[in-house]
Amino acid sequence: MTFTLAIVGRPNVGKSTLFNRLVGKRLALVDNQPGVTRDLREGDARLGELRFTVIDTAGLEDATDDSLPGRMRRLTERAVEMADACLFLIDARAGVLPTDEIFADILRKKNAHVILAANKAEGSAGEAGMIEAWGLGLGEPIALSAEHGEGMGDLAAALVPVA
Ligand code: GDP
Ligand code: MG
Repeated sequence: MTFTLAIVGRPNVGKSTLFNRLVGKRLALVDNQPGVTRDLREGDARLGELRFTVIDTAGLEDATDDSLPGRMRRLTERAVEMADACLFLIDARAGVLPTDEIFADILRKKNAHVILAANKAEGSAGEAGMIEAWGLGLGEPIALSAEHGEGMGDLAAALVPVA
């Protein structure tokens, strides 16, 4: 059984970096598929033994960090509705920002199956952010580094119950 995972979170936390890592070279094919909008990118992801569809909520880059335009909210809600589970990314180095709290609220209101991950956690730079992430009340955060490929085994383990 396959499933769909949406990567959600505020701009600049590393959603697209993770999407690209999960989709790899298959992205080129995906981009040519009909139904791929500018704002929601869909790809065939591979992680260990798991195969699934991943959605990147792109198109948030114009939004500023301290405002949450309706577009950002609508886009995230649409991704949640399309997905079986959401990977909610925060930036472990930045810690939990007010905008992250807004995303957490959206996910709670939508009753989404949430997997929380703190990205940019390579080295020890993200340790404080990891502790803050617990405060979101969305369970145990996974420490990830999308750029360096760290934490991918923990992510796979968290996805097994979804598959
Ligand atoms: P998005 O806006 O959430 O899609 O974020 P991007 O994937 O575009 O990444 C935003 C910035 O964070 C880029 O400069 C990335 O290179 C950087 N970035 C992404 N993942 C990591 C990571 O694991 N560690 C570090 N240090 N930087 C990262
Ligand atoms: Mg992006």
